[in-house]
Amino acid sequence: MPQYDLAIIGGGLAGAATAYYACKRGASVLLLERRDLNLGASGSNAGSIHAQIPFDPFSNLGPEWARRYAATLPLFQASIRQWGGLEDELQGHLGLSAKGGLMVAATEGDCAALRAKVEIERAAGLDVDLWDKDALDRKAPFLASGMKLGAFCGIEGKADPFAVAPLYAKRAIALGLDLRRNADVVAISAGQDGFTLKASQADFTARRVVNAAGADAARVAAMAGIHVEIEAHAIQVSVTEKRPQTLPYLLYFTGEKLTLKQSAEGGFLIGGGWPARLKGYPVVDQRSMIRNLSIAQEVVPALHGVDIVRSWAAMVNGTADWRPILGEAPEVPGFYLNLFPWMGFTAAPAVSEAIAALALGETPAVDLRGFGL
Ligand SMILES: Cc1cc2nc3c(=O)[nH]c(=O)nc-3n(C[C@H](O)[C@H](O)[C@H](O)COP(=O)(O)OP(=O)(O)OC[C@H]3O[C@@H](n4cnc5c(N)ncnc54)[C@H](O)[C@@H]3O)c2cc1C
Repeated sequence: MPQYDLAIIGGGLAGAATAYYACKRGASVLLLERRDLNLGASGSNAGSIHAQIPFDPFSNLGPEWARRYAATLPLFQASIRQWGGLEDELQGHLGLSAKGGLMVAATEGDCAALRAKVEIERAAGLDVDLWDKDALDRKAPFLASGMKLGAFCGIEGKADPFAVAPLYAKRAIALGLDLRRNADVVAISAGQDGFTLKASQADFTARRVVNAAGADAARVAAMAGIHVEIEAHAIQVSVTEKRPQTLPYLLYFTGEKLTLKQSAEGGFLIGGGWPARLKGYPVVDQRSMIRNLSIAQEVVPALHGVDIVRSWAAMVNGTADWRPILGEAPEVPGFYLNLFPWMGFTAAPAVSEAIAALALGETPAVDLRGFGL
């Protein structure tokens, strides 16, 4: 059995990026994916690059939660800096655009909450501008007239979820990655010198293991005797027919779940975490789709009469407090967790490089202490 420095379970963005950064450091790396690359959340998401604290949990869990959650903002910021150089580093097109993100509020109550959230973000070092009604009229004329306040964060944007994980994997393979598709890890045992992983194709041994199994990470961790509270939720996204360019920003609305952006080709991507249905697999929920579209139309009137051309549903990895679970499992030395919930697309570059560094005995460039199991 070959002995690898590092075995990574899960061929989504977290796994592919960890593999790339570990290969770049000269390690021998195995990536085990039970189906094929990028078929999970990483290839089905909305492609938003976030930095602001999401409004939904802020209004449900409150400012104390947000102050704790603000510890993740430096991870997002580090990742966004890394996204900026990623097309050069990986030598390919990632559909990257960073024109900023705008969170808008329409009621007095939401305006007050948005102001309070921005204070917490600023205290954590995130640059966010507040745009009053005049500024919104000038800088965001596409908005409905009822919008009263906006929080603008200039580093937010979007990238192409179809492109990123496969390109990371391609570059990792060029650096020596052993990628095994159709390799469902079904058992893990820890020994003196490392781990034996039983996969559907064969058994493998590795000195260290990274669990990057996304929404299935709890099941994978349990194979190593570790309890991890990762949730799996079915959510959905829709895309409309093409229209002339009107929306330069990633747009959020505090009133109800909404993320909205316009692709370079003109289609609007409408998401925000609306629930899909589960039939053993996720399927689009029509009520969610209709509600999501009508909110988008309330916020951006130009969307009236625009038809949806495609909707899809997928499983997202979640945690109840929205915080990631990152680093070495205390009870099982050598077993690492790279589990970034809800906004793991944004966070993957810097976090995955940090996990690769940690697993290979280096000090990571971003501080993951405080995010351990
Ligand atoms: C509809 C939707 C919209 C989203 N929008 C955004 C967004 O706009 N911005 C943002 O930042 N984030 C967004 N997210 C969240 C983001 O996509 C995820 O947090 C991120 O992609 C998680 O990456 P991952 O690599 O950890 O998991 P995944 O991409 O799910 O990859 C996990 C992989 O592990 C494999 N695996 C599982 N078990 C095993 C096993 N036993 N053996 C081998 N392989 C296994 C799976 O097959 C899968 O390929 C969205 C998610 C969804 C679903």
